[in-house]
Amino acid sequence: MKLTSDVYVVGGGYYGFNISGRLDCHVYVINSGTELAIVDPGCGIDRDFKAILANIRDDGLDPKRIRKILVTHYHCDHIGAAAEARGCLDAEMYASKIVAPNIREGDEKAASLDVGKAVGFYPQDFDLKPCEVDVELSEGDLVRIGNMTMEIFETPGHCEGHLSFLLSGGERKYLFGGDMVFWGGRILLQNIHDCKINDYAESIFKIEKKDFDALLPGHLQISLSDGKSHVQKAGDAFRKLGVPQNLL
Ligand SMILES: [Zn+2]
Repeated sequence: MKLTSDVYVVGGGYYGFNISGRLDCHVYVINSGTELAIVDPGCGIDRDFKAILANIRDDGLDPKRIRKILVTHYHCDHIGAAAEARGCLDAEMYASKIVAPNIREGDEKAASLDVGKAVGFYPQDFDLKPCEVDVELSEGDLVRIGNMTMEIFETPGHCEGHLSFLLSGGERKYLFGGDMVFWGGRILLQNIHDCKINDYAESIFKIEKKDFDALLPGHLQISLSDGKSHVQKAGDAFRKLGVPQNLL
């Protein structure tokens, strides 16, 4: 599904467009002209990564041109399909250096899959497949995607090692926010070991100062212009010493 000349939505489940596995986050493809990149390959429950490959082809894009898979964070609805995606594409995996060891091990406890199964969000027989991380990312890193540039920001709070990506060089500037902030300034606090509200506020304050047009979150509504206003709304709530509206 083409959003702009630069970005497509090629996957998403129940909390998205229902065009791939039911727990998949929004799966984005960046089209730089010379190469493609994926942001968050999804969960891979019910329908595997082949459904996403079919969507990419339906959009007129060739998956063989995908060179990079970038992940915002290690929750399974974002990276469950990472091992399968890396295995079938000629692409390198990019993830935060903070959680790269957990992704390589398929560490279900670190990724809170154990508690996610306990509440029935994930099926009991779902496993987080270990996935090699080829490139470890840190604050301020720049990743070239053809003639575009992705700037990396560490934005913990929703979980440890959460990253946000600022893409420039296309028809507009895009913020890939993962699960940091959603339409209307909502956030996603959960009672899990690495969700930290002070870190969350600092991440929001950092990102609301950046210049971008489109907010491309991991779930729910997408905002192609004025995306910053949603981050600022969350920032306003934190500045009043309160908490933005939570998704749960
Ligand atoms: Zn998450």
